[in-house]
Amino acid sequence: MIAAKGYAAQDPKTPLGPFNFDRREPGPHDVQFDILYCGVCHSDLHQVRDEWGGSIFPMVPGHEIVGRVTAVGSEVSKFKVGDLAGVGCLVDSCRHCENCSDGLEQYCLNGHSQTYNGTEQDHKTPTYGGYSNFIVVDEAFVLHVDERLDLAAVAPLLCAGITTYSPLRHWKVGEGHKVAVLGLGGLGHMAVKFAASFGAEVTVLSTSPGKEDDAKRLGAHKFVVTKDPEQLKGVQGYFDFIIDSVSASHDYNMYLGMLKTDGVHICVGAPPTPSQIVAFSLIPGRKSLAGSMIGGLPETQEMLDYCAEHNITSDIELIDMKDIETAYERMLKGDVRYRFVIDMKTL
Ligand code: NAP
Ligand code: ZN
Ligand code: ZN
Repeated sequence: MIAAKGYAAQDPKTPLGPFNFDRREPGPHDVQFDILYCGVCHSDLHQVRDEWGGSIFPMVPGHEIVGRVTAVGSEVSKFKVGDLAGVGCLVDSCRHCENCSDGLEQYCLNGHSQTYNGTEQDHKTPTYGGYSNFIVVDEAFVLHVDERLDLAAVAPLLCAGITTYSPLRHWKVGEGHKVAVLGLGGLGHMAVKFAASFGAEVTVLSTSPGKEDDAKRLGAHKFVVTKDPEQLKGVQGYFDFIIDSVSASHDYNMYLGMLKTDGVHICVGAPPTPSQIVAFSLIPGRKSLAGSMIGGLPETQEMLDYCAEHNITSDIELIDMKDIETAYERMLKGDVRYRFVIDMKTL
């Protein structure tokens, strides 16, 4: 084993603090890399505070991980020492079920290994995430990162990026479509960039009037403050798709009213509390309520390559490791412009 340093939550109530733990020596198929930057996802906060239930402690969060390779196993063919590398929300899966065979490891039928708050495929060894100095991951779950992009701003692509890219691709969103991005935070701002890049007309639906200029700069064509009933009148029956990235409880029925006939409301935001959906929000207009979870390994690499080609990264605020609790508090207030990224040399 190799001694590793990180920042961990010991339970849902205590602030995160320094934590020493062990990672495995790289095996024949493993890549070891020093973590340079790690993004802060709202899922980190949900899990640290055990809002979804079943959290495993101590927990080293972080699943938007980029860094530079320091060691590779004897059988590794995709990476060499000195390469840039990225790891997202997955570090392993069964690799043989129908979904894994289709490159949809996020939907592994035998249970994937999430990067933290999960276990390795032995279903007992806990996984520890990217708020740490280095990581060891099988090369099949390590992504290539292009040297041309700003590395700190690439980190959020590993979750916020792929989580919004994947449903936009699945529903073939592009020219001629009217797309709403609900909630302008980490996921939302990436959804705006991708939907605009794919040629759609993009409207941001936000509770924060102060984000209008940013929304337009990110590529949105329209901005609607959802707390203003007058502004809502203009978008009834208007959208082909809504990408819903809201992290807290909200009324889906209200937003379903903004869809056209055959419109799709895609949930990527994962509020901890259940909501009531009225069937009559869906029936007239043959509407769909859908969900989507991150993306598989092939599509994550496709997204990173697309971003390199089109010069797309996240808009970030770089923070020190010790300021993580302040970042969480600001995230809860919707005050993220638009992703916190931890500079791991401050660990
Ligand atoms: P974030 O940066 O905190 O952004 C969430 C945004 O939602 C806020 O900035 C705010 O935008 C809006 N919002 C917050 N509370 C609201 C409320 N009560 N009503 C309406 N809008 C509200 O969070 P994130 O990192 O983008 O993550 C968003 C959600 O996606 C989280 O639940 C996270 O766990 C989930 N997630 C899911 C996946 C997946 O695979 N499906 C992957 C990653 C994350 P405005 O100020 O514009 O209103
Ligand atoms: Zn995430
Ligand atoms: Zn599988």
